[in-house]
Amino acid sequence: MEKEIDLDYFRSLLESRKDEIERNLSAISSDIEELQGLEVNDEGDFASISSSRYTDTMLATHQLNELKEIEHALQKVAKSSDLFGICEMCQDDIAKERLVAKPFAIYCKSCRELVEQRGKDKKTK
Ligand SMILES: [Zn+2]
Repeated sequence: MEKEIDLDYFRSLLESRKDEIERNLSAISSDIEELQGLEVNDEGDFASISSSRYTDTMLATHQLNELKEIEHALQKVAKSSDLFGICEMCQDDIAKERLVAKPFAIYCKSCRELVEQRGKDKKTK
């Protein structure tokens, strides 16, 4: 089956997502700096500040991971059109609908499910 992947389309999709994340990250880091500059006397205040800082940190970590995945995908787009849209586990084509929803996907649907299943198993043990 002929692959019909419009690399330019996915490249711009990835780049705009990357810009968005970079903006989010700089907003988060200035929030964290602001919080760190606050004087905290009350224990209650401290609890609410640290939990919001915790949320920011979690968010930043998540966004950083996504940013890495996006950069990885962009490298594949730059290197060769044969690399982009191919599952890194089974080498099958990743469904186009899946790439539109998640252009930095590195696994096809069934491999993704396998990986997620394994991740869940680890957490419960
Ligand atoms: Zn696969």
